[in-house]
Amino acid sequence: MPPKLKYTTIQDKLLDWYNTNKENYPWRSSQNPFQILITEILLQKTIASNVSNLFYKFFEKYSEFSKIYESKVEDLQEDIKILGLSNKRAKILKDLSELVIKEYNGEIPEDANALQKVNGIADYVSNAYQCFGLNKRTFFYDVNIKRFVSRIFEGTDSKISVDLIEKTLDKILPKQEPKHFYWAILDFGNKICKKSKPKCKECPISDLCVYFSSKK
Ligand code: SF4
Repeated sequence: MPPKLKYTTIQDKLLDWYNTNKENYPWRSSQNPFQILITEILLQKTIASNVSNLFYKFFEKYSEFSKIYESKVEDLQEDIKILGLSNKRAKILKDLSELVIKEYNGEIPEDANALQKVNGIADYVSNAYQCFGLNKRTFFYDVNIKRFVSRIFEGTDSKISVDLIEKTLDKILPKQEPKHFYWAILDFGNKICKKSKPKCKECPISDLCVYFSSKK
């Protein structure tokens, strides 16, 4: 199959799979940039269902940056303790709120690099926010996205370069609404292309996967 057709076929099949298997996490239907950015910080190093469980209660109490900024750090830690790393996470939320309020008049800066002035916010969060919050076609990856790219296109579970991941994402990400494709990869990595024992027999793109064909 010509490479371009392979990319569009994978796009179509994965999005079809996502339409019937997606997780309806509350942040995926939020149009609120504040909620979307804060959620990406909450999602770091924890499982999504934990964040889902506290989402509404958390944002009812912390409805804007000023609420986080003015809160007692002990209260904030208590409110997110189910996620783990509550001291570190609360400090990131506090520092981010201070940055946005003091340097950006309460508005989230659009420049991805500006967010990275906060210790603890790196490429993933700032680029994921740009994509999920601002609908920009940015490149970022976690273990699920990396595994997706490396297995399907390189046939391997071992390390592949950042450059190769980004080049592949550039080829495979749809031009419109790339966030849906990222969510599809994330759900697909959790449910089908799992770290151990991937469910290749249930996989809608197994005929296009180098990893699968190498194991036959
Ligand atoms: Fe993952 Fe298996 Fe599907 Fe390849 S065939 S993408 S390894 S689940």
